[in-house]
Amino acid sequence: MSIKRKMQRQKASKEDRQITMKNEMAMIAGIVEGSPDAVGVVVIRMECGCRKMAAVDIKGEAASKVIMYRDQAESICDQCKEDNGAFIRVKEQFIHWEKEDLDDATKEMIHNKVIGTQPVH
Ligand SMILES: [Zn+2]
Repeated sequence: MSIKRKMQRQKASKEDRQITMKNEMAMIAGIVEGSPDAVGVVVIRMECGCRKMAAVDIKGEAASKVIMYRDQAESICDQCKEDNGAFIRVKEQFIHWEKEDLDDATKEMIHNKVIGTQPVH
């Protein structure tokens, strides 16, 4: 890790969050680019700080491989390597909609299919 990066990490957490958001948006853009059928990207933030993402198509089916990454690290943490990002450790999850003109009913259907049907802890 470069000195510049280390210094960035020591700044206010708000700025840290902005960097994280920027990285997240870049990841989302990359996934969408590689997934022509994607109408949105499921973003799962793990308690440990790792992220899981996957594109979804109009039917709520996976439109890309599940991608796992960790900000400012070369690989995901040991725990995630072990349990592949177990649902019990999920901090928050949402869908980033790529197609904003999607109607609410479709969005709700996809949301329920992708997120709503998983057990709540
Ligand atoms: Zn992790």
